[in-house]
Amino acid sequence: MTHCPECDAKVERNDKVLGEVFPCPDCGTELEVFGTSPFAVQPAPKEAEDWGE
Ligand SMILES: [Zn+2]
Repeated sequence: MTHCPECDAKVERNDKVLGEVFPCPDCGTELEVFGTSPFAVQPAPKEAEDWGE
């Protein structure tokens, strides 16, 4: 469990995987999982939905 960097709401890991992007359940900000041990999130880059291979 960690906290949203935008609104500080609790964010559960559940089955999220590294690199997964999901909306904050409270403020809707897109968050990206950048760590799983410990679980950590950061705001997802808005224009990087696909990683431009
Ligand atoms: Zn939030």
